[in-house]
Amino acid sequence: MVNDDNPLDFDVVVVGGGAAGIAAALGAAALGSRVCLIEKYGFLGGAATISSVLTHCGFFDQTGEQVVRGAGQLVLDKLEQVNLYLPHTMEESGNTVVLLDMETTKRVYDELIDEAGIELYLHSQLVDAQTRDGVITSIRFAHRGGTASVTAQAFIDCSGDGALIAAAGAAEILVDVHDRQASTLVMRVGRVEEDADLTSKAMTDAVAAYQQKTGVSLVRTSGIAVRMPLTREVMLLLADQHRDLLDVTEITRAEIDARKLAWHYLAAFQDSLKGWESSFLSATGPQIGIREARRLKGRDAVTSDDVSEGRKRLEDAIARCGWPMENHIAPGVTEYGGIRDQGWYHIPYGAICSENIDNLWAGGRLVSSDNRAYASLRVMGTALATGQACGVAAAVYAADGVHSLQRTRHHLQLQGALV
Ligand SMILES: Cc1cc2nc3c(=O)[nH]c(=O)nc-3n(C[C@H](O)[C@H](O)[C@H](O)COP(=O)(O)OP(=O)(O)OC[C@H]3O[C@@H](n4cnc5c(N)ncnc54)[C@H](O)[C@@H]3O)c2cc1C
Repeated sequence: MVNDDNPLDFDVVVVGGGAAGIAAALGAAALGSRVCLIEKYGFLGGAATISSVLTHCGFFDQTGEQVVRGAGQLVLDKLEQVNLYLPHTMEESGNTVVLLDMETTKRVYDELIDEAGIELYLHSQLVDAQTRDGVITSIRFAHRGGTASVTAQAFIDCSGDGALIAAAGAAEILVDVHDRQASTLVMRVGRVEEDADLTSKAMTDAVAAYQQKTGVSLVRTSGIAVRMPLTREVMLLLADQHRDLLDVTEITRAEIDARKLAWHYLAAFQDSLKGWESSFLSATGPQIGIREARRLKGRDAVTSDDVSEGRKRLEDAIARCGWPMENHIAPGVTEYGGIRDQGWYHIPYGAICSENIDNLWAGGRLVSSDNRAYASLRVMGTALATGQACGVAAAVYAADGVHSLQRTRHHLQLQGALV
């Protein structure tokens, strides 16, 4: 029984089982580390499975070159094995995404973690961390039966919200809520006819007609609509909220208000969009999609100039990012910024290491960056790359007791990652 009377000990602890955390655990386990992965929900996948973010961005740059392999490739290979590797180039932007099915995504991640021999604790939420002389010595998590503590040599925060960064008192970046990206409750809508109109223009017209008829005010008038594989549902990004979702009162209100919006958008489309007459709201949640909370203050940071110039680094690169900047600055308002020649840039080692806690790394949407660079590197394909780099770096540290950029890069390359 895992409880306070039986403390656990591992080489590497990873908090958060989204794209970054899964890749971190895989990266560390591949070096032979004893790895524990702690996830607060009952399944893996992070935003993909918690918030129906079912389009994987960041595997390819805008020229179509693949920029993420390694752990990311393991995911794509598993999807291929079940005939669900579905890359899709968006007509308007030219960006290539990999479409996901919710249950297949959970299955793929379960299999990868099982096969790698990683100790996984689901329904387990990090609540506390102990530090001494600038290193984390142990963490504590709450599970359905109580609490348990874990000691380790190295710790990785892939919680998206920076739960371990905060618990350990590590240096963090937390921008003012007005400058944070808006959150969106993703809607999955069933029984939308195959030839239904999914264009922005059609949505805008339907929302305008609905507002006129009902007097309801809908700030966002159009959004992204993508047809999902297998279920044939349409995934809709429309129900936005712009609040401080680290505040429990605010996130409670945001969930409820976003669900109200979801019903209004559904009614608007049922009313006047061809092919939507018999549609129904098949799912939201279990959690509103949160784009931004706190993130790591690292020894280095990715800047918007690095992104727009497509900056390549000779010595300290640990991952590539080929997704352009997509900053959801307010509900329905997105600011875009490209990468030079539609290519990719490097993410440096210093952007995943804590500035003040020697044995803490952070991946995915916690990578140290300015606001606009963050709007590029936060996507799930890139999260797999930065997460894997954290896992390898932490495993090297757990074995040697010191950081080694050279060994980290060497092992990433051995694991097939593109650095
Ligand atoms: C509405 C929306 C649309 C998006 N669209 C896209 C898109 O189309 N394509 C794309 O690639 N990206 C998209 N993104 C961005 C992307 O989803 C995230 O940036 C990405 O999921 C980051 O991966 P991650 O592993 O860092 O974090 P997450 O996916 O957020 O995973 C974090 C994990 O940590 C767990 N966790 C949190 N706190 C704790 C704790 N205290 N203890 C234990 N576990 C904890 C969570 O339950 C979760 O499983 C979108 C995001 C949103 C919100």
